[in-house]
Amino acid sequence: MPTRTEQDQASVSEAAYQAARLAAVWAGARDGLFDWDLSLGKIRFSPRWKELVGCADDEVGTGPEEWFRRVHPSDLQVLKKTLDEHMEGRKSFEQEFRMLHSDGTWRRVACRGELDRMSGLFGGSMCDVTKDKSSEDRLLHEVFHDPLTGLANRALFLDRLAMSLSRARRGGQAVAVLYLDLDRFRTVNDSLGPEAGDRLLVEVTRRVGKLLRPGDTLARLGGDKFGFLLENVHVPRDAIRFAELLGSELAPPVLLQGHEIFVSGSTGIALSADGAQKAESLLQNAISAMHRAKEDGATRHELFDPDMSRRAKERMKLEGDLRNALDRGEFTLHYQPIISFGTGSLSSFEALLRWNHPERGFVRPDIFIPIAEENGLILPLGSWVLEQACAQMASWQDRFPEAAGISMAVNISGRQFEESGLVKDVTNTLNRTGLDSSALKLEMTESVIMARTAENKARLQQLRKLGVKLMIDDFGTGYSSLANLHTFPLDTLKIDRSFVSRMEYEDEKAEIVRTILTLAKKLGMDAVAEGVETVEQLRMLRDLACNYGQGFYFSNAVDGDSAAAWLAKSPRW
Ligand code: C2E
Ligand code: MG
Ligand code: MG
Repeated sequence: MPTRTEQDQASVSEAAYQAARLAAVWAGARDGLFDWDLSLGKIRFSPRWKELVGCADDEVGTGPEEWFRRVHPSDLQVLKKTLDEHMEGRKSFEQEFRMLHSDGTWRRVACRGELDRMSGLFGGSMCDVTKDKSSEDRLLHEVFHDPLTGLANRALFLDRLAMSLSRARRGGQAVAVLYLDLDRFRTVNDSLGPEAGDRLLVEVTRRVGKLLRPGDTLARLGGDKFGFLLENVHVPRDAIRFAELLGSELAPPVLLQGHEIFVSGSTGIALSADGAQKAESLLQNAISAMHRAKEDGATRHELFDPDMSRRAKERMKLEGDLRNALDRGEFTLHYQPIISFGTGSLSSFEALLRWNHPERGFVRPDIFIPIAEENGLILPLGSWVLEQACAQMASWQDRFPEAAGISMAVNISGRQFEESGLVKDVTNTLNRTGLDSSALKLEMTESVIMARTAENKARLQQLRKLGVKLMIDDFGTGYSSLANLHTFPLDTLKIDRSFVSRMEYEDEKAEIVRTILTLAKKLGMDAVAEGVETVEQLRMLRDLACNYGQGFYFSNAVDGDSAAAWLAKSPRW
């Protein structure tokens, strides 16, 4: 990775640069001293001073020209000016310049001194900082770069952006900022470990770095987030084209620990022409656009429009509303049936959370669960779901003979699972509601189950001991370590919807479904196909000896009353 030191020095904030430089320069006092009697026009140089310029004791005379004639011609004028200013009492004297060593090389020296006005004697010291200069460069590099990828960090990125913006303003040009956030990076980190995560980031850096032109800047702005600063981009089309290239560079799989990892990312694009005058606000605009791209799911990149800051504010409002929603009773559960293909009868329900927002109507769990995970609200909310779902199932079992053999599946989020209180929460809920533990299933995604395995295994075992069934949700998307799967106490694999929905059209997807089913069978686990929408999918799944399915083909999630009405009728599909 090129150090770009010259460029950095030109652009990093002056104060930070000076602080780093002085710390490095004055750290070692290996000074050559001199005193200069101004009235006599004579200088005495210490032996160490002579050593610094590579001369023997008798090779250096006693006049100031001994000093000045060794100074690099380009530095001499500034040196003399600074000295004059000091003599006139206007400035302290501290200066860096190049001096000629007797071996013919230029040495960079740092010099400082002070005139004693009583005696008319100027005392000075000088030290060779040629070597420090490179350690200084290193220090600077460390302060402004990400150690893993060697890329510019946030501070340097913002600094360069501020410089580009002011250049652009003067020259009537435009600058584009792209903000790339990798998808599901955490999943890689959690399931394959942080080292694999690091390798992935380095590989991403290598790939996207190829797209840069001279003058562009690529920075790592945090975990799996990258920033691009593109100069001279006048029309959105050019920036969009760049985002498309980013997408294609990322597309080929990365091989990590024998797994083919597919990398994708969401990119937000903001142009200075949109009116953002400050570096921070331009970056913020790109971030808002990235969030929009992510929400959309399908679009991989999105151009900022001023409407987005409104939406960012909306998200903040949504978070505020979410905090009160539980107290205000705005949540309900819907229930989606899971069908046994063998008998065509109901095998279980999955409880799916619904938020009935007073102004927005139903808000999808995909939107609010991640927010609740972030702010910790998922813990009380998750307990509420567990309680409701168990109580509902217990009451149905009391009312309908059909309900005796069916169970309730409840989704458990990562944060809920990691909290030590989950086992107690489940135990207490079962006791309170009187539901038999065998009628409760917990759904967790692969990355949640596989992360920090020893601890998680113990927790799964405790849940299993209660008699609760454990299920991997969205199986196939999380890079499970298949070799380890049998060591986890699990009952069911739930095949991710993305495979089921494409299996009619893509042989590869059908093959994945077949493999997962074989795997489940080998491990003595049940398999449930998620997102069954067509009769053809059902036929294919039956042919592959899949026993359970869930999806719009049978029913979407319905409210408690509708689910109860089914139970009363003992329906067959
Ligand atoms: P999930 O656990 O994988 O749930 C299945 C999702 O797929 C549900 O979306 C369901 O409505 C939808 N679905 C079912 N069949 C089909 C189909 O045939 N086609 C299509 N296109 N979609 C189908 P929903 O209810 O929007 O929930 C989304 C996700 O939100 C869930 O995915 C789950 O991860 C999360 N979630 C829902 N409720 C809870 C909860 O109580 N706690 C936690 N932690 N997460 C929840
Ligand atoms: Mg689920
Ligand atoms: Mg699922």
